Amino acid sequence: MVFWDYDTQWGGDRSRLPGGTKEWGRLEFENTDRLLELHAQYGIPASFAVVGAAALPGERPYHDPDQVRMIHAAGHEVASHSFRHDWLPGLGREELLDTLRRSKQALEECIGAQVVSFVPPYNQPFDYPPRLSISLAERREAGRRRTGLGDLCTALGDTGYKFCRVSYRSIGERLRERVTKKARTAPARLEMIRGIQCIRMNAPGGFNEHAHRVLDHCAKEGGIVVVGGHPHSLHAGNTQDEHMLVPFLQHAGDLHRQGLLRLALPRDFIGERSA
Ligand SMILES: [Zn+2]
Repeated sequence: MVFWDYDTQWGGDRSRLPGGTKEWGRLEFENTDRLLELHAQYGIPASFAVVGAAALPGERPYHDPDQVRMIHAAGHEVASHSFRHDWLPGLGREELLDTLRRSKQALEECIGAQVVSFVPPYNQPFDYPPRLSISLAERREAGRRRTGLGDLCTALGDTGYKFCRVSYRSIGERLRERVTKKARTAPARLEMIRGIQCIRMNAPGGFNEHAHRVLDHCAKEGGIVVVGGHPHSLHAGNTQDEHMLVPFLQHAGDLHRQGLLRLALPRDFIGERSA
């Protein structure tokens, strides 16, 4: 399962990385044209998690409804990435419902099809006590009206979504990674949280050597590979760069042709039993 987080300048304006606002919004659109070519060339479908406001009429670097329609027409899944790349832990219930609804509505009106999958901006909330994932930073910054992962999934169900990519990590997992200093290549598992089909990325570092190892592991022993990046990073020289992406798409395409890999979109997993 391949994800692209389509942030546009809405995401650039709200960057939480050091240095504040970023100017890469325009690159999202140019690089998505290239990504659509590459995905077609290697025959790999992807899920584009689009900021809903980008699907409204208007100009780049904030809007391009025609490109969102092109993504859908090419057979990729259009998922929601909130309405304006909102930091969800800081929202109260009403604000949360509002961003989920507005995003879904803008995207559905744009592409003329249902939107059922969601990718939280910044991969947050992390906080999910039932799985021993506690984020003190989220609790500190968000204050009293905080949205945790459980609250998000409840709100997703209430607004008609069915699938969510999640990123919580239990205390045990964090400690194990710190001690072994090794990322695991285990398959990603489907997990139902409050009626929403959820999955965690197991290759979160872009299209690096680890992502290839996860691919081989899952092709050999079964399981789901969840990988992704940002279109605006396609020529950034990092692990999401085209020169890293192309060998990964080739590798996945080869495994698929050998009958060792099924190519999937989030919507394909709706209704499947959790592993
Ligand atoms: Zn994003």
